Amino acid sequence: MALLIKETCINCDMCDPECPNEAITFVADIYEIDPDLCTECVGFYEQPTCIDVCPIKNCIIIDPDHRESTQQLLDKFAIIHAHVTQK
Ligand code: SF4
Ligand code: SF4
Repeated sequence: MALLIKETCINCDMCDPECPNEAITFVADIYEIDPDLCTECVGFYEQPTCIDVCPIKNCIIIDPDHRESTQQLLDKFAIIHAHVTQK
């Protein structure tokens, strides 16, 4: 599942540099997560690192419109990082 940043975000910029997939960007005064790039940190960490660093509780949640299985997230991870995994 991709994750979603809620309107409670205070734009602290803690999550953006921590995302291993560069899925978080600042767009029109708010941070957004690109569902095509978010793997819920599968392939990198045990749990979503953006949630770990976010100071606002429940600010980053599972995106109900982008539910994926662990295998689908692993497949997405492999595609995103194909240039690394092919080496
Ligand atoms: S869960 Fe991981 S991959 Fe998804 S936006 Fe957060 S840090 Fe990036
Ligand atoms: S860490 Fe949380 S509060 Fe800070 S920019 Fe990211 S989503 Fe917003």
